[in-house]
Amino acid sequence: MPRVPVHTRAVFFDAVGTLLFPEPSAPTVYADVAQRYGLQLAPSDVRSRFITAYRVEEAADVATQWVTSEEREHERWHRIVTQTLTGVSDPEACYRDLFDHFARPAAWRVAPDATEVFAALQSRGLVLGMGSNYDARLWLVLAGFPELAALADRVVISAAVGVRKPGTGFFQTVARIANCEPNEVLFVGDDLNNDYVGATTARMHAILLDPRGDHTHIPHRITKLSELLT
Ligand SMILES: [Mg+2]
Repeated sequence: MPRVPVHTRAVFFDAVGTLLFPEPSAPTVYADVAQRYGLQLAPSDVRSRFITAYRVEEAADVATQWVTSEEREHERWHRIVTQTLTGVSDPEACYRDLFDHFARPAAWRVAPDATEVFAALQSRGLVLGMGSNYDARLWLVLAGFPELAALADRVVISAAVGVRKPGTGFFQTVARIANCEPNEVLFVGDDLNNDYVGATTARMHAILLDPRGDHTHIPHRITKLSELLT
């Protein structure tokens, strides 16, 4: 069976963890900022604190049925940073430093096979786009990556939509921007719930990017982007 179903007219990609990767890693960046503000934390400790704080915010979003906004995203990251870096001398400055850090293209790298994959999909006449649970900072990051220009005309950001992935309303906006029926859109992402389950619930086709083989029970999965072309 082809990776991209024959009836597909548009392919949308998640951003973070699919096309864009923090470099250095987020735990390393957090640990560096913590150290600047008097707190010694190993990246592994950052990671476990971060996951705990992140899950609390996920639960809050379940309770509001995935409603989001720029304000909500600032609130989310403020809480995650202050919880993760409890013990620093100036939590507000840490929050601002980290928020600003991840708005810079220099904080990110692009998947090495992205350009080749976009060109091949476009040569098949497919419309390309991006669907991200990020906020307005994504525009600043994208401005630094000509490799992602093929998607730039159709970027769907949850904070602007008002509903985040995995909410069905987010994917309905993706379909509208793609000018397609949901079942004509293929959504590619690395998050099982936000991307794969969210898109399939909205009647899209979905492929999970699963580089470490964490979800081998999922029928439609790839370990790298270029496998979309096989
Ligand atoms: Mg992702």
